[in-house]
Amino acid sequence: MLNSQDREFWFVVGSQHLYGADALEEVKEHAKEIVDSLNENAGLAYPLVFKALVTTADEIKSVMKEVNYDDKVAGVITWMHTFSPAKMWIPGTKLLQKPLLHLSTQFNKEVPWKTIDMDFMNLNQSAHGDREYGFINARLKINNKVVVGHYEDEEVHAEISNWMRSAVGFAASQTIKVARFGDNMRNVAVTEGDKVEAAIQFGWTVDYFGIGDLVEEMSHVTDKDIQSTYDECNKLYDMAPGDNDPEFFESHVKEQIKIEIGLRRFLEKGGYTAFTTNFEDLHGMKQLPGMAVQRLNAEGYGFAGEGDWKTAALDRLVKVMTDNESTGFMEDYTYNFTKGDEYIVQSHMLEVDPTFAETKPRVVVNPLGIGDKEDPARLVFDGKAGEGFTISMLDLGTHYRLVVNPFEAVTPAEEAPNLPVARVIWKPKPDFKTSIKKWIEAGGGHHTVATLALDKDVVLDWAKMVDLETVLID
Ligand code: MN
Repeated sequence: MLNSQDREFWFVVGSQHLYGADALEEVKEHAKEIVDSLNENAGLAYPLVFKALVTTADEIKSVMKEVNYDDKVAGVITWMHTFSPAKMWIPGTKLLQKPLLHLSTQFNKEVPWKTIDMDFMNLNQSAHGDREYGFINARLKINNKVVVGHYEDEEVHAEISNWMRSAVGFAASQTIKVARFGDNMRNVAVTEGDKVEAAIQFGWTVDYFGIGDLVEEMSHVTDKDIQSTYDECNKLYDMAPGDNDPEFFESHVKEQIKIEIGLRRFLEKGGYTAFTTNFEDLHGMKQLPGMAVQRLNAEGYGFAGEGDWKTAALDRLVKVMTDNESTGFMEDYTYNFTKGDEYIVQSHMLEVDPTFAETKPRVVVNPLGIGDKEDPARLVFDGKAGEGFTISMLDLGTHYRLVVNPFEAVTPAEEAPNLPVARVIWKPKPDFKTSIKKWIEAGGGHHTVATLALDKDVVLDWAKMVDLETVLID
């Protein structure tokens, strides 16, 4: 996966000196045991590191400063084994610039009625400590996550792991750089947005380039480079010239490969992890980027068509959250209104993300009415089935909103011999009518990012971390 970074999370346990040195030693040992158990048994997406037992404002401040400055650390998980007066958490928590999860758990699973005494109660009082600590986080409005349950519980494991993915998304979001070749498609409304606000709120850099900059980069691509990628494609995909003359087919695929290599070099030089194209702005290009985009998607680059930088950045974000599994840019196309078998056909004119592919992609060269260029090469396949969700971001003028809708992706029952693009079919939840009505009422766009590889809470928690309004249709 492109630019994937090593990440870890720190575990901090809070207490106070009231209970004596022995009790504190026990608190520390228990915390370490919990961390070990989570690392071994919870299947967490990222490692958890026991960092400190903290009992004073200075200690808390010092840990939070370290969390902020260590790039490897994506967030901090706190636990109150005992009561930890929360005024001392104020300075450190105010400094914290990374996601915080308050784990409301307890070392013992059950109340030991036969042996319980006041010493036990003083040591094992998470229920007491959680409320004091939770109050100060609520008052500071830090958008932290609270996960409740015994640390050996599977639901707790899943919630922590999902939150870790959100937090890694939060970190990755600050580094997303989108290169836009051309502006937004003329007259389209929903793809517009306030780029300065996106930089402030989500950390996104969105830079414009003339398509000539890409054409220039492409001019340095050699025939040898192109042949080597062509050979690779021969192994990875079914070459499907169809009715095309073989030479015509090969030269058109190679032109697309030239775009791919030029694009990749351009993006690498500028440190871009996402990009957009616009079919209205192709001066000097022979084809609209199709297979080129798809193959870069497969490497982890975010993308959206028609200059839609918001969706391109979101695509990159969700690709980081899923390690680039079954995630990509999508567009709502055609409804099927058969009663009891309603669905939406999802596709794009060329650039459907091959991480969705259920079938081995075919390389196809076909005419494209849009863009007024040569027949572009594209990968064609049927999409996977499974549970997923789709998201769309819109700028309402006063603020950004994220619309989220779960769906069930199904395998197409029918062949589509005349459709030269990849297709993904989904049935939105809770039902077709409600979903579409609510989506339209919420202003959800036709460009989305869909994934089959993530719990929707991961995106919802990320939205909370960045103060983003969400509309969940479920
Ligand atoms: Mn589009």
